[in-house]
Amino acid sequence: MKFKSADILKHYRVDAPDRFQLKSVDCADTGAIDKDAAQSMLADDVQRLSDLQRRLYAEDRWAVLIVLQGMDAAGKDGVVAHVMSGVNPQGCEVRSFKAPSVEELDHDFLWRTSTRLPARGRIGIFNRSYYEDVLVVRVHPELLRREKVPGTLIGKNIWEERFQDIRAFERHLARNGTLVLKFFLHVSKEEQRRRFLDRLEDPAKRWKFSMDDINERRRWDDYMAAYQEMIRATSRPGAPWFVVPADHKWFTRLVVAAAVIEALEGLGLAFPKIEGAALEEMHKVRVALLAEQPRKAR
Ligand code: AMP
Ligand code: MG
Repeated sequence: MKFKSADILKHYRVDAPDRFQLKSVDCADTGAIDKDAAQSMLADDVQRLSDLQRRLYAEDRWAVLIVLQGMDAAGKDGVVAHVMSGVNPQGCEVRSFKAPSVEELDHDFLWRTSTRLPARGRIGIFNRSYYEDVLVVRVHPELLRREKVPGTLIGKNIWEERFQDIRAFERHLARNGTLVLKFFLHVSKEEQRRRFLDRLEDPAKRWKFSMDDINERRRWDDYMAAYQEMIRATSRPGAPWFVVPADHKWFTRLVVAAAVIEALEGLGLAFPKIEGAALEEMHKVRVALLAEQPRKAR
C-alpha cells in the first residue's frame, strides 16, 4: 500500500476532539506498511523536510513549533534524532523541559516555554512542554503547591482554566504566524515495560533509566485519563494533536515526518523572488565579477 500523507491526517490527527477516545488508537498500528518500506520512505521524507526547511528559513515569515509529549520511553528523543536528521542545525532548535527550576517556579506556567519559542524561519521542537503542567502536575497535585500559585486561585476548575489558557496561547501563536503541531506518542504499557527492561539490561542505555520512571508507570491509568482530557480540550484546527502509534519506532517517526511535511507544504513556501532594479543590480555585479582577472597561481 502506498502510504499517503492524506491518510495520516485522516487517521492520526484529532479533528473531532469532543468525541476523542484514546483507546480508539492502537499503539501497535503500522498502517499496513512494513519496516523496510518505512525506512526508505523516511529517508525520502528527511530529504523533503530539508528542502522545506530551507524555504522556511529563506522566507522568514512562518515559524514552526513541534510539541512532543509521551510517557517515558515513548520515543520522543528518537523522533528528534531521526526526523530532523536532514535539517540544517542553524534553522532548528530543540528544547527539553524537565522539572522546573526555582527561577521557573517563580513565574506562571507558560513563561519558561514562551522564552524558547522558535523565531520566524525556524523550526522549534519542544521535547515535553507546558503540557506537563496539565499532566504530571495533575497526576501529582502536590506539584501544584510547589508552583507557588496563590491558594485562592486554585479551585476545582484549575485544569479547565489551564486548558483555556493553553488554547488562547496557541491561538495567539497561530494568528501571528507560528504553525503549531502537537504529537502524543502513544506507547502501550507492555511496550514501555520491554523498553525499560532493555534500558536496565544494556549498559549503554542504563543512564536513561530513572527511578521516577517506575513511579510514573504505576500511575499509568491516571496519565492516560489526563492525556485524553488534555487532547480533547486542546486539539483545535490551528494547533491540532496527532495521536501517533508508538510501539514501533520506525512507524512513529514516519507519521511525525509525514505530518510535518504535509503542514509545511500547506504554507506554499517559496524562495523570495528578486526582481526589477534589485535583479538588474545583481546582473551588473555578476558581469563585473566575470570580468575580473583571475589571479595567477604562483
Ligand atoms: P525526561 O524527559 O525523561 O528527562 O524527564 C523529565 C521529567 O521532568 C519528566 O518526569 C517530567 O514529567 C518532568 N517534568 C517536566 N515538566 C514538568 C513540570 N512542569 N513539573 C513537574 N515535572 C515536570
Ligand atoms: Mg525519562
